[in-house]
Amino acid sequence: MANLSRRNFLTAFTSSVLGFGLARKVKAGSKNTGIAQEGTSPIRIQKYNDLGKTGIKVPDVSCGAISFFEPNVLRYAYDLGVTYFDTAEGYMRTKSETFIGEALKDVRDKVTITTKHGYFSIKKIKKEGIIKRIEASLMRLQSDHIDIAMVHGVSDMAFLENEELQAAYAQLKKQGKIRFTGFSTHNAVLTLKQALDNDFAQVILFIYSHMEGEEIEPLIEQARKKGIGMVAMKIFAGGKHANLKTLVSQEVSYPQAAIRWVISNSNVDCCIPTMSSYSHVEEYVEASGKPLDRASLEMIAEYQRQTKNQYCRVSCSQCLSSCPNDVAINDVLRYSMYFEDYGMEKDAMGYYADIAANKKPLNCAHCAGYCEKACPYGLKVQDKLIHANEILTA
Ligand code: SF4
Ligand code: SF4
Repeated sequence: MANLSRRNFLTAFTSSVLGFGLARKVKAGSKNTGIAQEGTSPIRIQKYNDLGKTGIKVPDVSCGAISFFEPNVLRYAYDLGVTYFDTAEGYMRTKSETFIGEALKDVRDKVTITTKHGYFSIKKIKKEGIIKRIEASLMRLQSDHIDIAMVHGVSDMAFLENEELQAAYAQLKKQGKIRFTGFSTHNAVLTLKQALDNDFAQVILFIYSHMEGEEIEPLIEQARKKGIGMVAMKIFAGGKHANLKTLVSQEVSYPQAAIRWVISNSNVDCCIPTMSSYSHVEEYVEASGKPLDRASLEMIAEYQRQTKNQYCRVSCSQCLSSCPNDVAINDVLRYSMYFEDYGMEKDAMGYYADIAANKKPLNCAHCAGYCEKACPYGLKVQDKLIHANEILTA
C-alpha cells in the first residue's frame, strides 16, 4: 500500500469498535528449544530482503535484543527463520551480547550480528580503547567477527570524524574483525542527510514508526538508493499497547499491525522489535511478509487515538530549549517508557542513574512548566517528569 494511502486512511479513519481477542493459531516447534509443535503450518519468516549493498539477506522481521530474560528465546527466533540480531555493548550491561554468543555460537555462520558501542566522551577516546572494547564484545559474542559494528547514538555525523575512531574501525575492518560499519541514531533528520555524503555508514539503525518518521521517508529512500542498509527500531511507537486493554482485534494484534506498517515501506530492509519472550517471537514473526491491510490500519488508528497525548516521540527534542534548567526531558521520558511500557525496570533505573544530577527533573514541581507549553503534541510533560523521577529513583 502506498504511503499516501496509508496516511489518508489514518487521517480519515475514525475509531471503530474493534473485536475481542487475538487468535493465536499456531505454536511452532523447535528441537533446540524443546517447544512442542501444535498445528500444521508453523510460523516462520516469510520474507528476506537485501541489507543495502552489503550482500547480506535479512528477514523483514528481525530481532532486537535490548532486553530478554532467556537466551533460548533468541534460539527460538532463529528456529523460526530470524537470522539478524541487533545488540549493543550497553544492553543489559553487556549481558545481551553474552546471551547472543551463547545462543547462536553453533550457527554463527548462518546469522548476522550487529552490535553497537557508544562514545560519549569523544574527545578522550583513543584508538586502543575502542579496539579493546570491540574485542571484548567479540569475546562475549563468541565470534571472530562482528558483521555490522555500529557507533551507538549518533546525533551528528561530525562526531564520527574523530581520527582515533576512524583509525580504530579501519584497522578492525582490515583485520576482518568487522565486516561493515554503521551507526544508530535518534536524529535521523540530520544524520540520514549527512550519510548521503559520507561512506562510514553501510547500515543505519533509525527510529521509524506510524507515529514518527514519516517526515524522513524521502531521506530513507535516498539512503537506500545509495546502497545503505536501512534498519528500523522503536517501531511500536512507545509500546503502550500492554496498558491499553481495549486495543484488541480478532485479526491482528497491535504489534503485528505496527510491524506491517513499517515493513510496508520497501526502503526499509528490516525492523528489530525486541523479542523478550517466546510469545513475542511468535507474534512478531507471524507478521513477516504480511501486507498492511484494513484491520492493521484500523488498529494503528485506534492506538494513535489513545496515545497521541501520551507518547513522547523518541526522536523529538522540541521542548528542550524551553527548559531553564536544561533537564534532559526526552531521555528521562524515554527511560520512563522503558520502565513502564517495555518492562525493563532495572535497566531503566540504571540508565536514569547515569544522567547527570543537574539534568534530572528535580525542580520541576516548582517550575511554571515551560516545556509543557512547548510540546506540540499536548503531553502533560511536567507531571510526566515528576512521575518519571519517582519511579526511576531507587
Ligand atoms: S517543568 Fe520546568 S524545570 Fe521541569 S523540565 Fe519542564 S521547563 Fe524544565
Ligand atoms: S515532551 Fe513533547 S516536545 Fe518534548 S520531546 Fe517529548 S514529544 Fe517532544
